[in-house]
Amino acid sequence: MRKPKIVILGAGYGGLMTATRLQKAVGANEAEITLVNKNEYHYETTWLHEASAGTLHHDRVRYDISKVIDRNKVEFIQGTAVEIKTEEKKVLLEKGELEYDYLVVALGGESETFGIKGLKEYAYSISNINSARQIREHIEYQFATYNTEKEKDDTRLTIVVGGAGFTGIEFLGELGNRIPELCKEYDVDFEKVKIICVEAAPMVLPGFDPELVEYAVAHLEKKGVQFRIGTAIKEGTPEGIIVAKGENDVEEIKAGTVIWAAGIRGNAIIEKSGFEAMRGRVKVEADLRAPGHDNVFIVGDSSLMINEEINRPYPPTAQIAMQQGEVVARNLAALIHNKSELESFTYDNKGTVCSLGEHDAIGVAFGKKMVGTKASFMKKMIDNRALYMIGGASLVAKKGKFNVL
Ligand SMILES: Cc1cc2nc3c(=O)[nH]c(=O)nc-3n(C[C@H](O)[C@H](O)[C@H](O)COP(=O)(O)OP(=O)(O)OC[C@H]3O[C@@H](n4cnc5c(N)ncnc54)[C@H](O)[C@@H]3O)c2cc1C
Repeated sequence: MRKPKIVILGAGYGGLMTATRLQKAVGANEAEITLVNKNEYHYETTWLHEASAGTLHHDRVRYDISKVIDRNKVEFIQGTAVEIKTEEKKVLLEKGELEYDYLVVALGGESETFGIKGLKEYAYSISNINSARQIREHIEYQFATYNTEKEKDDTRLTIVVGGAGFTGIEFLGELGNRIPELCKEYDVDFEKVKIICVEAAPMVLPGFDPELVEYAVAHLEKKGVQFRIGTAIKEGTPEGIIVAKGENDVEEIKAGTVIWAAGIRGNAIIEKSGFEAMRGRVKVEADLRAPGHDNVFIVGDSSLMINEEINRPYPPTAQIAMQQGEVVARNLAALIHNKSELESFTYDNKGTVCSLGEHDAIGVAFGKKMVGTKASFMKKMIDNRALYMIGGASLVAKKGKFNVL
């Protein structure tokens, strides 16, 4: 009998979780499982702010996919998906194509610039290993160049971070530690460096407990970060950004580095393939299938689920992506085993911890608020747990964070 073909697109948190759980739930003779990913490695997206600031080497952030999958059960293809032809049950790759009976789309998200002019062209975004490396090297280049020029251009030492959400704040936390190192390394006066966070919303870290936000802001300000809250970026330019606070209060901020960390949308393939989507994210059914597509599951940043309590979408997180991956693996196993009833996904919010550099953080875990080294310890445990869930103790031993003091 022909084995059903399962194709998983993307080996991030959602895709790898699906693959590693599925390989345990079905026998080698029961299904043909193929995992496709752009690179032969998985990267911890949640650690990319560290690689971008240069506080953690990018090789620490990634590991070989082949090390965590059972190659007797899962075939890995390094390839780039281009489009999904749902009617033909096919995925087009840059090189070749794949047929499927069941598909899992776990391609992650992309930076959303909300149509703000010039941001795509002139701002960097923390998206993957290569963009993180580029940001780190760009900032270093600015510092290295500063003192070699006869006429000093102070704007080389200005870094603007667009967005005071989770990613922006975590990146600022790393910069707070990295900038003094760079100043020392390149003989730059710390007083000349400007780190400016521009946020359109009236507060930092919307949705976080106000007391924790206050702690984070005070911590980052002490490290030299200036906050421009209630201020919208109107345009990115080759020289920096144009911002506005109210209608008439328009200002140009010249900056050698602009990082856009304020928005995320689903992978472009979603819309290209004709799925109904909101900002590239598909509002999935309770069992994580795409509406109208009984054989297509979508997880992670390319999916969207509504938090019924507040009638707003859950923010896209690794925590949700991993939990979805577990449910999809069980639902695929059920389909393979001819069970008609599929499990509905319920989000189990285990808390959120936002780092503020290597040894500080804020967060809520197990229903308790925490700050400082305690929260930082918790953050590292969360990071290690994500490794453990996918690759077990050996992966934690290789890639885990043990700098807990
Ligand atoms: C700096 C930063 C910090 C964050 N911190 C946290 C945090 O502390 N906690 C938390 O829960 N969430 C955090 N997040 C959010 C979290 O990282 C994402 O929600 C999560 O990575 C989504 O998982 P995913 O499986 O959907 O996608 P990803 O983990 O991004 O994986 C997508 C995979 O698909 C691959 N891919 C993309 N396009 C293609 C293609 N065309 N063909 C083949 N492969 C492709 C990519 O290479 C990648 O391997 C953070 C995000 C950032 C950027």
